[in-house]
Amino acid sequence: MPDDYKRYRDAVRKKVCEHCIDYDHENAHCTLTGDKHCGVELYLENIVKVVQSVKAKELAEYVKLLRETVCHDCKNQEPDGSCQLRSESECGLDRYFELIVEAIEEVDKSKS
Ligand code: SF4
Ligand code: SF4
Repeated sequence: MPDDYKRYRDAVRKKVCEHCIDYDHENAHCTLTGDKHCGVELYLENIVKVVQSVKAKELAEYVKLLRETVCHDCKNQEPDGSCQLRSESECGLDRYFELIVEAIEEVDKSKS
């Protein structure tokens, strides 16, 4: 991931990961790996693009674009659009998406 994304990664870690049930505070990293590796870490670059491309700043619009892009390419989403991790609230990206959007927008505002 390019260095430009470091600020987004740091902002999301502080606002989201440090409050997430799957975060290891002692070692300062996410505990999820393998099949459960979180979309926040796997897809951050695309998540930032989604957030920046939404014109109508409404959560439903962000979610729609997230599903059409990031989830569409995620191996956990089924061809019918369903996702078991999402339906069981096991996807950190989905669970904390509103806060992730806020973290990314705060970084962008601090740049302007
Ligand atoms: S599960 Fe996702 S949101 Fe939670 S700490 Fe890991 S990367 Fe962050
Ligand atoms: S909600 Fe499901 S399809 Fe979307 S990123 Fe999370 S695990 Fe992948």
